[in-house]
Amino acid sequence: PYAIAAPCIDVMDKSCVEECPVDCVYEGDRKLYINPKECIDCGACEPVCPVEAISQDRRILDEYTAFVEDNRRFFIEV
Ligand code: SF4
Repeated sequence: PYAIAAPCIDVMDKSCVEECPVDCVYEGDRKLYINPKECIDCGACEPVCPVEAISQDRRILDEYTAFVEDNRRFFIEV
């Protein structure tokens, strides 16, 4: 699945929400989160993010790997 990392914090542009065909991008207090169980790996959200916060989990930058787990955890706690 895809994951949203640090650049989204306090930005929350939401272009990805409109782009996602399966509506799996959800709003948190300070950033958006992708539900890894619903994401179909289509990649549509990645290019529309103005701050380049979105990547596929296995291509995510080393400094953002914690956000893969963070996206997963967000949907467990809800
Ligand atoms: Fe939605 Fe596709 Fe992005 Fe997954 S990769 S969050 S399905 S737009």
